Amino acid sequence: MKLQMVDLQGQYLALKQEIDAAIAQVLANSHFINGPDVTRFAQEFAAYNQVPYVITCANGTDALQLALMALDLQPGEEVIVPAFTYVATAEAIALLGLTPVFADVDPHTFLLTAAAIEEQITSRTKAIVPVHLFGQCTDMAPILALAKKHDLYVIEDTAQAIGAAYTFPDGTAKKAGTMGHIGTTSFFPSKNLGCYGDGGALLVQEDALAAKLQMLANHGQKQKYHHDLVGINSRLDTLQAAILSVKLRHLDIFNGNRQASAAFYNEQLALLPGIKLPTRAVQSTHVFHQYTLICSDISREALRAHLQQQGIPSMVYYPLPLHRQKAYEQYHKNKNPLPVSEKLSNQVLSLPIHTEQDPEQLIFITAAIKEFTNQQYR
Ligand SMILES: *Cc1c(COP(=O)(O)O)cnc(C)c1O
Repeated sequence: MKLQMVDLQGQYLALKQEIDAAIAQVLANSHFINGPDVTRFAQEFAAYNQVPYVITCANGTDALQLALMALDLQPGEEVIVPAFTYVATAEAIALLGLTPVFADVDPHTFLLTAAAIEEQITSRTKAIVPVHLFGQCTDMAPILALAKKHDLYVIEDTAQAIGAAYTFPDGTAKKAGTMGHIGTTSFFPSKNLGCYGDGGALLVQEDALAAKLQMLANHGQKQKYHHDLVGINSRLDTLQAAILSVKLRHLDIFNGNRQASAAFYNEQLALLPGIKLPTRAVQSTHVFHQYTLICSDISREALRAHLQQQGIPSMVYYPLPLHRQKAYEQYHKNKNPLPVSEKLSNQVLSLPIHTEQDPEQLIFITAAIKEFTNQQYR
């Protein structure tokens, strides 16, 4: 049995006919850059998310950079991000000469909270970037209220939560990435909606902001060779757009498969000593980009080694919080410790989860984990 964190090849083989036809069509048309498939995918993706505008771009990191560029933030202004996330979130901020300010996360859901954000707000704060980490939405209602009170922009990094939905206290539900001013996402192959290379997109509510982002992603031009803004070159290529159109039709099924795997893990691993299962955020659905355990009272490294011996991969997302990273320590001088992020970095362990897992694989993985905890707590 070959176990992998994600099974991209298995998924491709399951969709082979549709995907191959879509690729062949692009090759036949040979509109490799900004072909009609790009516009079509942007429209389909906007419809799926029920958001007025989608601007596609080259990757999720560019999407974050473009979002920040569009808001005209000035060097030295502060943007609050979780300390426990992938580096891209802070990288785009630092690259633009802005100051990333790290806030701690909730110990159960791994997500930013309004209370943790509020502690970090200063007169220089201009924006907040909640990250819908591992596949569920940050509790957005209190964060949006806080942002409104302090006149802050909200950029949702929804690279890991495409398809998840958040329910507001009044009962209305919205898709991840459509609640703040701008949502950013990534189509990196292993993401819930992944292409076969790099890709990204921005989800936007407002006309003027959408028009500006479209220009920024295309050398600052609306009309060819007339550059009104200093932009960048960030494009989703036509082949990837065609592949994404096919995969978008299957996204809810993909997410359903991930949820089924998570439910199996939950059932089998419940009540095992020394580990905590992922906690569900009550207001959000969960699309399980990752299924992440907390090794609260067993050695994570020993568990990893035990799994590895049986050919079961596992990953630590993320081993070092951002404020402890060499490149980002400078932004955290003389600041309060972020104990939850530090503790999680030492205790989290993500198990294989993807769209092609069969019961046999899941039984094998959970049996190995049970065997380990039984040995530890004999
Ligand atoms: C993957 C990811 C990104 C970056 O996406 P790329 O397409 O790889 O640039 C940004 N933020 C988060 C939370 C991610 O998981």
